[in-house]
Amino acid sequence: MSAYSQFLRHVVIPVGSRLAGYGDFLPYLEALEASQWWSPQQIRELQNAKLRRLIAHVYENVPFYRQIMDERGLTPGDIQTTDDLVKLPIVDKKTITAHYDDTLRDRSIPRNQLIHATSSGSTAERLHYWTTKAQKAKKWAGLFRWWEMVGYTFGDPYVTFQLAPNQGFKGWPLVGKLEWLLLRHHWLSAQEMTDEVLARYVENLKAWKPKLFRSYASTVYYLARRMNEAGLQVPIPSILTTGETLTPHMRETIEQAFAPGRVFNEYGGDGMQIAAECEMHDGLHINAETYIVEIVKDGERVPDGELGEVVLTNLEATATPFIRYNIHDVAAISHEPCACGRGLPRLSHLEGRLTDMFVTSDGHWLTVHQFTAFFAKVHSVRAFQVIQKEVDFILIKLVVDDTFSDADRRRIVETFRNYMGPNTRFELEFVDAIPVSPVGKRRFFISEVIQGTPSEV
Ligand SMILES: [Zn+2]
Repeated sequence: MSAYSQFLRHVVIPVGSRLAGYGDFLPYLEALEASQWWSPQQIRELQNAKLRRLIAHVYENVPFYRQIMDERGLTPGDIQTTDDLVKLPIVDKKTITAHYDDTLRDRSIPRNQLIHATSSGSTAERLHYWTTKAQKAKKWAGLFRWWEMVGYTFGDPYVTFQLAPNQGFKGWPLVGKLEWLLLRHHWLSAQEMTDEVLARYVENLKAWKPKLFRSYASTVYYLARRMNEAGLQVPIPSILTTGETLTPHMRETIEQAFAPGRVFNEYGGDGMQIAAECEMHDGLHINAETYIVEIVKDGERVPDGELGEVVLTNLEATATPFIRYNIHDVAAISHEPCACGRGLPRLSHLEGRLTDMFVTSDGHWLTVHQFTAFFAKVHSVRAFQVIQKEVDFILIKLVVDDTFSDADRRRIVETFRNYMGPNTRFELEFVDAIPVSPVGKRRFFISEVIQGTPSEV
């Protein structure tokens, strides 16, 4: 570690975070750095101990859980291990948002310590919940552990590429600037991505020489694709992609543009840092000291390796508890040991948002990876978005150049029909641009059909 990294780690960050009220950050990060190497059994015991603490706390301080447990004849002693979680109901965004400010609020935390938070989701229904500085500090610690896992240390230059800059010190612009300066953080706006802007970004990246480049998968994929087309390359060791499905084709395209750098996929959502890839690129390690992950289909847990919805229990959150929270993403879990030696379980598959999947008329969930690669081969298509409006009706929005032909049109419809079934109807709509979601994501696939397991309360 360089002298500058040491200075940040041992002086600036402890003092700065304590002054700002985030003193839990470094101790929690140090605990995570150590426990990732524990055995799976030790990590499970830590989870169980934290779970017992959480359940005892919400039984005393959160009326919602007091009432549910009383109705079910449960006392905190009935929830001893992660297996006992099934005695409690699955909740989702609707439940949390409806009750976070009354029965789901932790009565032991004074009002003036609660921080209101919303998910950045582009959907009409946003998640609303309470958090605290202590909880946020632990969330950042989880995030920084992933960054360290992909080779970052404090003080290394890094670049974020998103719609709005992320600053820890909102409302204190000067402190925020200082934070960026000290951490050597640069930001590129994903708002406008014309050829001129992208050419300037390439120059910026060459000058800044970041060790880490973090972006929504689709945003950096778009940049990488344009760089590859223009024969441009910038070496960046680690590219951290977040926010949505990363297909094998997207990974290849990004690694080509930033060679010899590697892509590491990171998974989070609704304010949680859930999982990330290690240097083995063989699934995503779960932040198991902070979250219990269950994989559920139709309300029941499924065996390791099978796809289902991701249901999370945040072991460090009580302001608004997240206990068996269905985030409506689709993944499979693995408890096989990873070659890196970390004892953290992994998500062996991560298929992304349930609404990014299509459902066929016989009820199968269809992952849409192959279509991203397919469109890359249709050279007249500059951008696309596919929306499943009904089980048998697909709307395909296309931005095309003037080489687009009837043969291209037939090829697109036939490819989709092969997967979706012969009775599927298609409509092609030609547009000038595909709108970017409010947070800067480019969504390639949207299903308006799949609903998933609803909340049980
Ligand atoms: Zn690993």
